[in-house]
Amino acid sequence: MSAILETDGLTKRFASLVANDDIDLAVEDGSTHSVIGPNGAGKSTLFNVITGMLEPTEGTVTFNGDDITGLPPHKVARHGLARSFQITDVFDGLTALENVRIAAQYGEAGAGSMWRSADRLAAPEERADGILEDIGLADRAEQRASEFAYGDRRKLEIGITMATDPDLLMLDEPTAGMGREDTVSTIQLVQRLSEERGFTLMLIEHDLEIVMSISDTITVLQGGAVISEGSPEEVSADEEVQRAYLGG
Ligand code: ADP
Ligand code: MG
Repeated sequence: MSAILETDGLTKRFASLVANDDIDLAVEDGSTHSVIGPNGAGKSTLFNVITGMLEPTEGTVTFNGDDITGLPPHKVARHGLARSFQITDVFDGLTALENVRIAAQYGEAGAGSMWRSADRLAAPEERADGILEDIGLADRAEQRASEFAYGDRRKLEIGITMATDPDLLMLDEPTAGMGREDTVSTIQLVQRLSEERGFTLMLIEHDLEIVMSISDTITVLQGGAVISEGSPEEVSADEEVQRAYLGG
């Protein structure tokens, strides 16, 4: 197996609180890798430390063979690692197309085009059109984001994060606040796109049934530490995981 992302001894402390405790992670290239765990387990912190939103207290992050530990977010993005946030970052006053185009242009400016593959050389406008098609919002390209219902906003947000043509897309609870139907369709959409566009997907998602059905690998965090890791079958059979979820 070849890992696109590795963390080694990754630790993040907030004063005396250990939010991430000595985390060794290997995310296989091309896989769907989910991170689960109870509230406060350290999932968002892990994403923040990997993507440069927070500096790790200890440990290293290696992406595509490069040491990206402690790099600021825009430099991490230039390496081909994109992320979304739990809170949506759509520009309300802009149309769907403008939102995606701006993100695509940012990716263009940021990408070291030397090592970008040929299919990524499409102009930002074309890329933006293609993404709106992919997320099912092409016929609403000229509508302002403020007119979008919640579920469509979240899809637009995913489109924005994809616009930089990442090698790895990290989504922190992309379906938070969605009903069951939207949740399923959104996750299926993201996974289909990861296959079509060839990016690795890392996901924090609270719906365990969905996580179990789409993940190649699942990492379970509790109290900042990895308590289990493996295939959905392995993780769901793990007694420590069952205790963490049932509180028993
Ligand atoms: P999760 O995403 O799994 O719910 P978080 O990573 O958001 O968990 O939080 C892990 C722990 O770190 C929690 O106890 C949380 O209160 C704490 N924490 C997160 N961010 C900060 C911060 N910026 N300052 C202090 N404590 C934080
Ligand atoms: Mg979180």
